[in-house]
Amino acid sequence: MQRPVFAANWKMNHGPTEAKAFMRTFLAHYARRPDRSVLFFPSDLAFAAVADAIRERQDLLLGVQNIHWEDKGAFTGESSAAIARDAGARLVLVGHSERRHVFGETDEMQARKCHSGVRAGLTPVLCIGELLAEREAGQAEAVVIRQLTAGLSLLDPRDVAQMLIAYEPVWAIGTGKTATPEDASRMHAVVRRHLTAMLAEKAASVPILYGGSVNRGNAATLIAAPEVDGLLVGGASLDAEGWSSIVRS
Ligand code: PEP
Repeated sequence: MQRPVFAANWKMNHGPTEAKAFMRTFLAHYARRPDRSVLFFPSDLAFAAVADAIRERQDLLLGVQNIHWEDKGAFTGESSAAIARDAGARLVLVGHSERRHVFGETDEMQARKCHSGVRAGLTPVLCIGELLAEREAGQAEAVVIRQLTAGLSLLDPRDVAQMLIAYEPVWAIGTGKTATPEDASRMHAVVRRHLTAMLAEKAASVPILYGGSVNRGNAATLIAAPEVDGLLVGGASLDAEGWSSIVRS
């Protein structure tokens, strides 16, 4: 994947109609650039609208926000990795803080989702990050290493080398509080050291994205910070012009 990587997580926003309008504006503002990757994670029900809008733009990649870890079965309301792949997804967000803290998902579930995603040919973006209380207790590094170790535990190192990691401190998500570039770099370096212990020189191929209240005003500074290979953006990715200005930063 070409770095820097800019990933839009729309969460539970933009239905098919809004998604189509968004893509019309975004495509008018963002011409293909070979020096970066742009990823979209729309809601499942807007997925086809976005896939259709970017059919001619192979530089833009599409992922789903969540999968179930089982291949198929009686799991009402869920989609498997194979279903997401069949619909055209290339990537999947795994372990987003809202899945962990709103829906009570465990580290073990993230491991199974990563494994299931890889088996179906999806690239997982494993999200990790500490709560404010954990940070204040001096546990930020231990928490992200625990989440990383657990989330990757069922994968072959060759598969880990193909995926992406997103460091998203929970206290910065949707709060308007952003990690400083120094903080982000320091935590990304912790992640990189851990990956290097697992993968040796192949660790360098894993993009580590920062997420947490990124906006048009701070994106350029964050993306320029050492060890920050890209940005995962929620709220500020919902406005097509704003998002196009972030991906051009
Ligand atoms: C996110 O949803 O991953 C995120 C980082 O949200 P926001 O940019 O709104 O903080």
